[in-house]
Parts: sequence; C-alpha cells; structure tokens
Amino acid sequence: MTVEIDDELFGGNITVIGSDEDGVIVAPEPDPEGDFCQWFAFRSRDRDGAGGGVRLDANGVSWPEALEDYNVFASFDGAPWERIETSFDGAELSWQHPAGVELAEFALWEPYTPARRRRLLARMRRARGATVASLGVTPDGNDLWAVQLLGGPKRLWIVARQHPGEVMAEWFADGLLERLSDLRDPTVKALRAEATVTVVPCANPDGAARGHHRVNAAGADMNRAWIDDDDSCPEVVALRAAIEASSVDLFIDVHGDERTARAFVAKSEGNPSYDERLAALEARLVDALAEGWEEFDRESGYPEDEPGEADLRSAANFVGEFYECPSVTLELPFNGAGRGWTANDARQFGARSLDAMLAVLSE
Ligand SMILES: [Zn+2]
Repeated sequence: MTVEIDDELFGGNITVIGSDEDGVIVAPEPDPEGDFCQWFAFRSRDRDGAGGGVRLDANGVSWPEALEDYNVFASFDGAPWERIETSFDGAELSWQHPAGVELAEFALWEPYTPARRRRLLARMRRARGATVASLGVTPDGNDLWAVQLLGGPKRLWIVARQHPGEVMAEWFADGLLERLSDLRDPTVKALRAEATVTVVPCANPDGAARGHHRVNAAGADMNRAWIDDDDSCPEVVALRAAIEASSVDLFIDVHGDERTARAFVAKSEGNPSYDERLAALEARLVDALAEGWEEFDRESGYPEDEPGEADLRSAANFVGEFYECPSVTLELPFNGAGRGWTANDARQFGARSLDAMLAVLSE
C-alpha cells in the first residue's frame, strides 16, 4: 500500500510516524503547551487502490482508556461521515483504508466544517427575530459568532465548544439553533415568549481551525480562564463582556467528556452563593433532560464539589456565582453507550434540550 497522509482538512491534526508491511503508523500532535493530546483528523490518499491498514499510536494521548471500544469516524471519497470498525490493543488504534477508496478522511469525531458553519449562520440571519453578530475577532482573525433570537425578558445563554476537540458540542448547538428558529414549534414559541436566547456555537474557533483538542491559539484552556486570566483568552473576555451587557438567567456550557458513555450535567453546587432555589432549578433541568433523551443519565458525572469549593475559573461556575442563576456544564459523550453516537444524534439532543430549558425558564 502506498498511502499519502496529510492534515490538509479543517482542524487537521496528525503526524506520520512511519509505515511497515501492515500499513501506515500515525499519531496525533499534542496541543501547544503539551498538556493535552487526543483530537486527530487527517486525509489518507491511496493511489494504487489496494487499501491498507492505518494504526494510530495512542501512547501519547491524554485519555487512552477513552479509545477502548472506540469506532473512529471516516468519510470515503467525499461520502457522508460514518463510524467504521476500529480495534484497540491498549497502545494502537487500528482500522482500514478500504481498497478502492482513493481519498479517505479519518477523525476522532465528525468534523464541523467552516462551510457548514457559514450555511448555519446564513440561515439564522434570515430567521425571525434573529441577529448574528461577532463578539470579537480572535488572535487568528476568526470571528467569535453569536446568534441571538429575540424573545421575552429572561436571558438564556448557551456556549459551546470552548474545548475545540469536543466537536459534538457544536453539532449540539447546530441542532438546537435549527429548532429555535422554527416559531411554529410550540416549545420554541413558549421558550421565546419567556426568554431572549443567545447561542455561541463555537467559542474557540482558533483551536478548532488549528486542530487542538483543548486549548486556544495561545495554548490556554479557556474553561480555566473565566476569573483572573484576561491575557491568554480574549475569547473569554469577549464572552464575559457580552454576558454582562445582556445579563443571564440560565447558562448552559456545552462540552464533550472523553470517558463518559452517556451525556450528563455538572451543576454549580460548590459555588459560595449556591442556595436551595438554584439547586431546585438545576435539578429541574437535569430531570427534564433525563426525560427527553435516553443517552442522558444522572449516574455518570463528576464527584460533586464541596460547598464553597467550586472552581470559579470555569464558565458555568463563574456565571452561576456572579449572576446567581442556574448554570451548568453539559457534557456529551465521544463514543456513546452503543459505540455509535453521531453528529446527527448530537443535533437531535440539542434540539430536544430546548424542552428542558423551557421547563427551567417557566418555573
Ligand atoms: Zn470540555
């Protein structure tokens, strides 16, 4: 097999280690600063049509256990992305570039392309009561896009993909926005009667374009920068200013968690000003999400913070503390309970999550 590997796709990240009679060996490049390594996306071109093996060296990845029972995403000769059969021996993730496929693309998760983002924003610009505005320009010259849908006096904020490798968060926002623009939908009508909604579908466009897993162009983890770090994360400065200008009554920060099989919510129980009212509202959100989506559960998740011990550098804790509103991190899986959680599933969950948000806003 003579395949040529490159990272010439959006968010591309790979390095070629070598090749042998079984095929090619590659590895993801760590994020700048070297603290994280997981995301990969690359192209594989096979000119002789014979196909062959692809092996990803997982020795340097941050969460090797997340690759157990993992099926990588692939697109063959431009066809829609799908999960393909993959095996993992604890050190290498292996799959096939099939015979007869000239150009294959492989990734940890289905990439969300700039073309798709442009089409979504164009559709949203035409939606009733919607404005699409840039909250600022990032160091790499990307716009930090926010979609606002005018409605009632409350303020709902949804921020997705502070961590760029958690691309399912942007797919979630995509499905959520599409539903939110349909005013014939009774849930949407009721939600928008309650609240004006602002959605930031990709909070870290530089990291997404560069193929980082966790950090922005400066190598900083934005979700550890909401307090006391204004230099390395201009994206957070812009988000904080926009939230301050509009205020906020419910905040959802959407992420992906490498280890979980099911989606879950991390609440802000460790915030110094957390009280029974906030606890009841966040519990309402969790109940409603669990009712509406079987891939969500209450058993998965992080250990709860002790009272007063929350890390206020993270967006949800910061916003919850300073605006005294229900404020959560919503974690989506990479693999899903059945190894098959896809972009379309993330879109559907995004759309359905509006019922849960309405349940909280109408309390
Ligand atoms: Zn995250």
